[in-house]
Amino acid sequence: MRLFEAVLDANQRKIAGDKNASVPAAEFGLALPVAALTCIDARLNHLLPEMLGIPEEQFIWLRNAGNIITGPLSSTMRSLALACALKGAKEIAIIGHSDCLVGKATAMKLLDGLATLGVDRNRLPANLVEYFGLFATERQNVMRGVDLVRTSPLIGPKVPVHGLLIDIQSGRLEWIVNGYQGLDSVASKSGQVFRTAESALDAFGQIGSLAAGELQFPQTKIGELTKAAQDWLHKAEQGAGAIEEKIGQPPAIKPAEPPRLPKVPVRGRPK
Ligand SMILES: [Zn+2]
Repeated sequence: MRLFEAVLDANQRKIAGDKNASVPAAEFGLALPVAALTCIDARLNHLLPEMLGIPEEQFIWLRNAGNIITGPLSSTMRSLALACALKGAKEIAIIGHSDCLVGKATAMKLLDGLATLGVDRNRLPANLVEYFGLFATERQNVMRGVDLVRTSPLIGPKVPVHGLLIDIQSGRLEWIVNGYQGLDSVASKSGQVFRTAESALDAFGQIGSLAAGELQFPQTKIGELTKAAQDWLHKAEQGAGAIEEKIGQPPAIKPAEPPRLPKVPVRGRPK
């Protein structure tokens, strides 16, 4: 069982009434700590740690409004990269939640809210939906975030990147992107490539030994070949000399005359 399989297992037991259900951290030392990005929604403050079941000291918690990744080199990506490179995070999870207000917001609603705070529309970015990362569904937002993290040049290919949704009422976790599956397919593809490369190298090895066998000519044969090559080179040199003699001096190039334009009859003015 891998870490997030244990997380989902503990979550299901917790939902079923087992208050002590948690992830046995000692068994997953190689997969911990975990870096997770969630929304800033205050309802997650106690709910998420409890329902995730990962010990507090093994949980690197990043938050922004709507758990949004705006780009592969964004500020949140910078934090995730440093969580892995400096804080030792082994796996990443983007965790959305139901009833997210960022998902429910429209550009008009947001503008109204900003206007009541005295924010000047003219000083805001032109594309509010893009800038604030307003999204249609929590599920799509998580999947997009996982894609951006997975393809970010800041995150190593061996780090599993998961996508989850938590029900803000019940605390039930749904695993919508299994970060291990992506790694498995990458590993199997690279395995295939290596196997192909190995068989190609075997083939080259066989060709090489065959070629080496053919090169073991008797001394006299090599001598004949060398003589034939020397003869060919001599004939080629003679031929080149004859061609040079025939060509002689190149003819002087006359400047091209300008093209003559056809005479166009001039029409008289209509009477
Ligand atoms: Zn939210």
